[in-house]
Amino acid sequence: MTLPMFIGDNRGLIARAASPAILAPRVSFEFFPPKTPEMEATLWQAIRRLEPLNPAFVSVTYGAGGGTRERTHRTVKRILDETSLQPAAHLTCVGAARQDVDAVIADYWTAGVRNIVALRGDPPGGVGGAYAPRADGYASATELTAAIHRIAPFEVMVGVYPEKHPESPSLDHDIDVLKAKIDAGAKVGISQFFFDIDAFLRFHERVRKAGVTIPIVPGIMPVTNFKGLVKMAAACEAAVPAWLAHLFEGLDDDAETRRLLAGAVAVELCAKLKGEGFDNFHFYTLNRADLVYAICLVLGLREFAV
Ligand code: FAD
Repeated sequence: MTLPMFIGDNRGLIARAASPAILAPRVSFEFFPPKTPEMEATLWQAIRRLEPLNPAFVSVTYGAGGGTRERTHRTVKRILDETSLQPAAHLTCVGAARQDVDAVIADYWTAGVRNIVALRGDPPGGVGGAYAPRADGYASATELTAAIHRIAPFEVMVGVYPEKHPESPSLDHDIDVLKAKIDAGAKVGISQFFFDIDAFLRFHERVRKAGVTIPIVPGIMPVTNFKGLVKMAAACEAAVPAWLAHLFEGLDDDAETRRLLAGAVAVELCAKLKGEGFDNFHFYTLNRADLVYAICLVLGLREFAV
């Protein structure tokens, strides 16, 4: 464990915590829109717990095909109305007509949203299924990003894939797609979760060599449900290293130890990345605050008055 790196040297993160600039995020938190009143209560506990850490933004996911359109919108709006946080709305275009997507974009601008995470969305059959754009829809995140900018001057963030997007023939192709998204106006790349840090660093180096200068923010997924992670990672083609599998071996019935390990693994990942010069992290919270909150404290973040 390389904890002392953070405990002894957290000035970069602390100093940046005074800056509200969206393009220099320190940490950001991703939530999904709740389906039930109970889930909504859990989400809001998480938001309230994480709010004083002054994240650069908090994002709310959007179902491919617009399945969560209302719930995402409601959640984003409530964040705007009731918190000091800067919300970023995820938006997908798969399976939707251009005019419907445009209406969502315009609604967000009217509501006061200024940040969008622009994504194509997974094929209707799920990750890895065959993708066919709708004839009257936007075909890719590139087209979506351009459309967003045609409608209003949002800050647009996009997804990047350190271990290659499952549908992509090569990493170089992915990097070409990223460059097209930047040409269309994307300002930040947020990565798919990963555990193979070398793969992430190699990807980042290739991206920089290709002339990409926008921030590439590592997406950090604290793993408490290892079996669930294995399924998700298989679909996304993210590697689950043998050391991680070994760590969680025999712990299926020991949720508490899994949680402690999840925190330790995420802290170590962030510490290694910090050592490589990264100090912006995007956390996939799964709407739970405690683990991410503790990880952030180790990273040197402290509460601000809200
Ligand atoms: P794109 O950038 O459009 O492309 C993905 C891949 O498709 C490319 O890498 C390339 O291989 C191929 N491709 C694209 N354009 C071309 C082209 N012109 N020619 C040839 N090939 C091309 N999904 C959701 O449904 N809701 C969410 O809220 C959500 N949030 C996410 C957040 C992050 C940070 C990330 C990384 C992913 C998220 N996703 C979400 C998943 C995302 O929708 C899927 O990974 C989807 O399959 C690809 O979306 P994209 O925006 O990366 O697509």
